[in-house]
Amino acid sequence: MAWYRCTLCGAEYSAAETHYLCPLCGQDWHPGQPLKGVLETVYDYEAIGRQFDPQNPDWSLFSPLDASWFPAFPVGKTPLFRSDYFSQNGLDVWIKNDGLNPSGSLKDRASILMVAEARRLGLQEIVCASTGNAASALAACCAAAQITATIFVPASAPRAKRIQMKLCGANVIEVDGDYDAAFDASIQYTKQYGTLNRNTAYHPLTIEGKKTVALEIYAQLGQRVPDFIFVPVGDGVIISAVFKGFLDLLRAQLIQRLPHLVCVQAEGSDAIAQFLESGEFHAVAQPSTIADSISVKVPSNAYLARDAVVQTRGFSVRVSDKAILAAQRELAAKTGVFGEPAAAAAVAGFDVVKEKLPAGSSCVLLITGHGLKDIDAAANALI
Ligand SMILES: *Cc1c(COP(=O)(O)O)cnc(C)c1O
Ligand SMILES: [Zn+2]
Repeated sequence: MAWYRCTLCGAEYSAAETHYLCPLCGQDWHPGQPLKGVLETVYDYEAIGRQFDPQNPDWSLFSPLDASWFPAFPVGKTPLFRSDYFSQNGLDVWIKNDGLNPSGSLKDRASILMVAEARRLGLQEIVCASTGNAASALAACCAAAQITATIFVPASAPRAKRIQMKLCGANVIEVDGDYDAAFDASIQYTKQYGTLNRNTAYHPLTIEGKKTVALEIYAQLGQRVPDFIFVPVGDGVIISAVFKGFLDLLRAQLIQRLPHLVCVQAEGSDAIAQFLESGEFHAVAQPSTIADSISVKVPSNAYLARDAVVQTRGFSVRVSDKAILAAQRELAAKTGVFGEPAAAAAVAGFDVVKEKLPAGSSCVLLITGHGLKDIDAAANALI
């Protein structure tokens, strides 16, 4: 049993009443601003607390949809391993390699839940706007369920990602403009054709799907909460989903504290870091970073991303493209894990602060996407 609650006004809705933003608060949202009235999925936490058996955990208690709606397409359950190389100076450092999802990024976690939702609703098509990974994830998950993925992408998306979505049979529409233009086009299309829209944070199940990475980290650490999780941040959905996962565990009284979430952003695309510092939101007029997956003008989930950092008493770190490329190479050369530049940003952020972390801290570096997704960027790391 799950339903939705507005993160702004607290109004509650059933999944039959609404799919997207809060019908009240969402009216205040205009294109070019962070989304307002993003919904969160809530559960009967008391019932979960009663039913959950730590000896024999049933993680489906934390899923809004019955297992029968999911296509046969295993997503998640990616490896978490301790890195001796990164565990220096008394730190305990773990790598969560989410680049090993079927389409090569953490975005599969959101897309598979959206596909399950489309099947529940009897819909044959899902639409999204994306700069790359969300779209290739949606294309792959839709292919697995044999439903149509219609994708609006800016023409600047990396080649491998564009090829990947086309090969999976998606209906790809290249938009002459940036992500915001693609976002608007996808909303128009959804209104016109009545399809399901997977835009990140716009549909609450995109957050809920990505939450599973937090539940896995907790399970894989032997049902322990790490001290710090380093998350690369663009739109701010992954970091709020990691927060949501631990919040659900806390609400069900399975844990007593939250991990500190570290928001890692590229210097040239740091709207959320700025927001955290100044308390005022400003778009980044001209985002510029080699890490395409975290290059964002107006982070759609800026408000919840800020909450995730503030409520976990985390912090933000900025990293240069040079540091991202160095971290990409370091991660590959020292652990064998090849992450795309956005994923390597988590490592670069860790490198900036590692000497200041309390001895004995456990840290998780969230590797969000595979390095083969953008070979041209990786080639720069060799120079
Ligand atoms: C989408 C993405 C991110 C950032 O996630 P947001 O929810 O936009 O903050 C980071 N890394 C990779 C590889 C991604 O695809
Ligand atoms: Zn509301």
